Amino acid sequence: MNREEEDVNSGGSMSRFLNRRVRGLEPYVPGEQPREGTFIKLNTNENPYPPSPRVIEAIREAAGEGLRRYPDPECRVLREAVAGVYGVQPEQVFAGNGSDEVLAFAFGAFFPSAPASGEGSLAGSGGPVIFPDVTYSFYPVYAGLWEIPYRTVPVGEDFSVNAEDYLVPAGGVVLANPNAPTGRALPLREILSVAGYQGKAGRVLIVDEAYGAFGAETAAAHIGEYPNLLTVHTLSKAASLAGLRVGFAIGSQELIQGLCRIRDSFNSYTLDRLALAGGTAAVLDTAYYAGITARIIATRERVSGRLGELGFEVVPSSANFIFIRHPARSGAAIFAALRERGILVRHFDKPRIRDHLRVSIGTDEEMDAFLQAAQEAAWEAVREAAGGPGQ
Ligand code: PMP
Repeated sequence: MNREEEDVNSGGSMSRFLNRRVRGLEPYVPGEQPREGTFIKLNTNENPYPPSPRVIEAIREAAGEGLRRYPDPECRVLREAVAGVYGVQPEQVFAGNGSDEVLAFAFGAFFPSAPASGEGSLAGSGGPVIFPDVTYSFYPVYAGLWEIPYRTVPVGEDFSVNAEDYLVPAGGVVLANPNAPTGRALPLREILSVAGYQGKAGRVLIVDEAYGAFGAETAAAHIGEYPNLLTVHTLSKAASLAGLRVGFAIGSQELIQGLCRIRDSFNSYTLDRLALAGGTAAVLDTAYYAGITARIIATRERVSGRLGELGFEVVPSSANFIFIRHPARSGAAIFAALRERGILVRHFDKPRIRDHLRVSIGTDEEMDAFLQAAQEAAWEAVREAAGGPGQ
């Protein structure tokens, strides 16, 4: 990449053409996508196994003459498939271009934005939206985009989310379950307690279930009892389709119509014909995905156990990644040691989690290579602590 391109991509210096709101944004920085084959890539929680062969077949079939037509803006076939699998009505399903888009729409539709100057205060709106201080780092970005005031609630020392902290007046609540980047999950009854409390106050609870298939119970079956509950799902992780960009939400018809209002004020066709065809086939092939999910969970448990033996602390994970730290070495140092050995993981240079690394679960072979590199990184730490020639 030459310098000019780099400047364009990183924003460079702030352009005078930007309006006030865009100047104030702090965009999300996605995990690195290096050239194919340069690293064992464990940094963006992609699935190491291929998507269902039925997905590829459906996309091939859709890649024809029909592409001259716009796709179905209502995404009917996909929504019917989701409704069938989750036991809800198609009117209770919304589909979007990845769950990031669905989340962005949900923030815009349901959470109170800051009053323009001269328009009074947030009073009566419940106050700021709340979510954990350690969670998916896109949430504050969406809040910024829509000018929604928010407050973060500290997770415990062990990164556990305490549901009771969310039984307070708020403009709305967002919880990832399992949480990212920690992998910790909350039991369904605690999620529902938050839905109940916030529902009585007329506030929405968004439950981001991006990693739900790997170990948390979905709240989607309870949208009938809680009209303020929206669960958000993705095909990027468990369905191995990060490259296709398909996400969906399940909630009361009232909430789904709210999301449609935002979409139809933005882009009528957020899902293309290939994504609709492939996404539908993925949702329906539950047997295939149960198989690869079980493999990932088995690998996660094996790797977590082995890392413990190597002296790493491993946060118990219900997701397709683990959150780890070595007591003798900084997150940045271990990140660099792994990278030198061809292993790419995710390091967040942020308060409270600076010494942790998030490691996506790959194939057993990839994880063996990771464990070897992690062991070497740990040895270096021990040598360093003993004053020997470490780095
Ligand atoms: N929610 C969480 C918690 C995530 O980690 C991610 C992936 N970065 C997403 C949502 C978005 O996934 P996608 O847009 O690929 O559906």
